[in-house]
Amino acid sequence: MHRTYQHSSLSDADATLNYLLDIIVEGTWDWHADTGRVERNPGWYRMLGYEVGGLKEDVFTWENIIHPDDYARVIDYIESFIAGKRQDYCIDYRCKKADGHYLWIRDRARIISRHPDGSASRIIGAHENIHARTSTQDELIEQNRHLRDDSVTLEHTLQQKARELEAKNQELEDKIREVEYISNTDQLTEIANRKRFEEKILQEIRRARRYSHPLSLALFDLDLFKNINDTHGHSAGDRVLRSIADLVRPNIRSLDCFARWGGEEFTLIFPSMALDGALQACEKLRGLIQQHEVKPGLCITASFGVSLFARNDSFEDLLRRADDALYRAKALGRNRVEVQASSASTPPREKQEDTAAP
Ligand code: GH3
Ligand code: MG
Ligand code: MG
Repeated sequence: MHRTYQHSSLSDADATLNYLLDIIVEGTWDWHADTGRVERNPGWYRMLGYEVGGLKEDVFTWENIIHPDDYARVIDYIESFIAGKRQDYCIDYRCKKADGHYLWIRDRARIISRHPDGSASRIIGAHENIHARTSTQDELIEQNRHLRDDSVTLEHTLQQKARELEAKNQELEDKIREVEYISNTDQLTEIANRKRFEEKILQEIRRARRYSHPLSLALFDLDLFKNINDTHGHSAGDRVLRSIADLVRPNIRSLDCFARWGGEEFTLIFPSMALDGALQACEKLRGLIQQHEVKPGLCITASFGVSLFARNDSFEDLLRRADDALYRAKALGRNRVEVQASSASTPPREKQEDTAAP
């Protein structure tokens, strides 16, 4: 211990000590184990707002002002110190002030005499007011907790919003697909419509030019379809159209495009297929249609016209040649497949006669 004074008389030493104890703002305490007496300096009373010397000088005064939440921790601590189980004594806790509020203090102590068994017989300590520091710390911890809570809430809200957005995007994508489907699909037969067909044929023409691949086009028209409507009614006619679409769809390649041109006329695009292949494919379809019974006693045939793309063809050229071939198929008795003739040998179109039975 550092020695500031070397008093020659006890009364001089007493006076110095009491002056010091009166002037320092920290609270000091001096506990005598054998008598149970605890002396506290004026600073201790002032710090806590009590009248100087106004409380009983025993350990109960101290124990009674410890915050109930800190009590067990503080008592365990001092017990282990008195018993010599810990060397240093420095502990923070709250003490009740005269106005009922609690003050954070740091309590430091030193054993200055011991019993023969080594336990403390006298301890001197000091209470330092650390309330401002601790309160700021507590406030920071509390603010930090709020910030963390806020950021957790924010994160949660963001995740929720992201999920909602994803669902909305999905909804939008579904809507776009639905609109696309509707705008490209024939309502009655649910195959591609004319708009889709026209897009597709232009695409295939570009591809055929790009890679010098063959490309064939077929038009087919149901024979004497008007008779079906007249005999069985318009809805039976609709049923025939749907039934023919359902029959053709699974009997072409997946890369072929099958569309309703309008009325009872259909188109088939055969990418990478020359005239022979297209002819065969149409013959197969013609046979299937002929054998098909829409319902007992309700049958129909179809006439096909097929054309092959030539490098300098426009879409209109290709379509016109297929249409000419179809016209010829009708003229030659229906229920048959005709391929394009060279432009030189294409016969002039005439009004055809109804020469074939349905
Ligand atoms: P052809 O063998 O010369 O093609 O004779 P056709 O009777 O098939 O030809 P026509 O052009 O005289 O008649 C076609 C009929 O198809 C007339 C029209 O009422 C009918 N039609 C067109 N679209 C539909 C449809 O969506 N549903 C129904 N039920 N009938 C339709
Ligand atoms: Mg017809
Ligand atoms: Mg027609």
